[in-house]
Amino acid sequence: MTELYCGKTIYRRRPPRFDLVAGALCLDFVNTLDDRFTSEPKELLKTYIDLARFGEDTGILSDAEADRLLTRSQTSSPDAQQALAAAIELREAMYAVFWAIVNKNPAPRTQLGILNRFVRRAAQHAQLVESDRRFEWKFDEALNFDAPLWPLAQSAADLLASDQLALVRPCEARNCLWLFLDTSKNHRRRWCDMAKCGNRAKFQRFYQRKKTEKRKD
Ligand SMILES: [Zn+2]
Repeated sequence: MTELYCGKTIYRRRPPRFDLVAGALCLDFVNTLDDRFTSEPKELLKTYIDLARFGEDTGILSDAEADRLLTRSQTSSPDAQQALAAAIELREAMYAVFWAIVNKNPAPRTQLGILNRFVRRAAQHAQLVESDRRFEWKFDEALNFDAPLWPLAQSAADLLASDQLALVRPCEARNCLWLFLDTSKNHRRRWCDMAKCGNRAKFQRFYQRKKTEKRKD
């Protein structure tokens, strides 16, 4: 089935495994460390398979590319492991930079340096490809274990250098704080996902009110 993801039509052979609610590829990637601010953060990228699945879910890898990387990751496990470690390093640098921005702080230099290193590497693999009288950026070496990292780094670079940067927000649920791009009409989106956090907050408010009412009785 074809679906729209971040303004791009992508083909999906199966429902996504990740909650892709951020409205920007790089922010969905940052959110792969779930419950980041709690005492028990949940790593959603535990193995290279998870990274390849994230690549497939977001359309940065075709299903054939994802399959080939998955098969190869089983036979060249140390290389796949290294790519996963690099992906986590990239994600954490992205998180640090975006988190500083939503808190109106300057980006931490070391983390920005790491991000820039990945952006430069991505640029080495980017090329212009013509399709239907238009040109688009494509990355070469789709079978390189690092291949999912290049579009991710590019997505962060594109967002950081765009006017949309001002629309990056954290989810208001304190135990969530996932990042998203608020492209809503009045720019008042509060939750990463209404079903996940909005309803829970509503329920908590309702429960809190009931408790106060009870105390008054
Ligand atoms: Zn949330």
